[in-house]
Amino acid sequence: MMEDRIEVREDYAFSDWLYYTAAALVPLFTGAVAIYPQSALGLVSYGGVVLAGVAVVMHLFCTHCPHYQKPGRFLKCIFFWGLPKFFAPRNGSLTRLEKLVAVAAMGLVLFFPLAWLAEEPGLLLVYLLSLAVFLATVRRHECRRCVFSDCPANAVPGQTPGRQGNVG
Ligand code: SF4
Repeated sequence: MMEDRIEVREDYAFSDWLYYTAAALVPLFTGAVAIYPQSALGLVSYGGVVLAGVAVVMHLFCTHCPHYQKPGRFLKCIFFWGLPKFFAPRNGSLTRLEKLVAVAAMGLVLFFPLAWLAEEPGLLLVYLLSLAVFLATVRRHECRRCVFSDCPANAVPGQTPGRQGNVG
């Protein structure tokens, strides 16, 4: 069967960022709503873990991305819009260590609220479902046309994930 021709996305629109930010905020806020009544310190720690996780991913992962490497001081992609590029863009492939640490940082963000969510089965269900919808949306609509060919999740047809050769 012939595969439909898929064009990689060189640019994103503000509306893309709004959509994915809203989608990502659903599980994040669900985690926060589960944590707060049980532990204010836990909520502050959750905020710290999210910010630190984003900083680690931006430093190790995003700095290699073609969207980050575009000229200009501000980042404009599906997850960051108008955010200053705090770190210098970096050429070359992602190393195995960079991939591992970035995945571990995101894993920590996702697993952190689970102990509190386990006390609230209804919120746990919302957390898991909203996370599944978010990840499935990114996978179905972005990974198949992503310019970041070095990303291990890249699913552009005919391209080997994790291999350098970025467009843009
Ligand atoms: S598209 Fe993804 S990898 Fe690229 S800069 Fe944005 S968040 Fe980072």
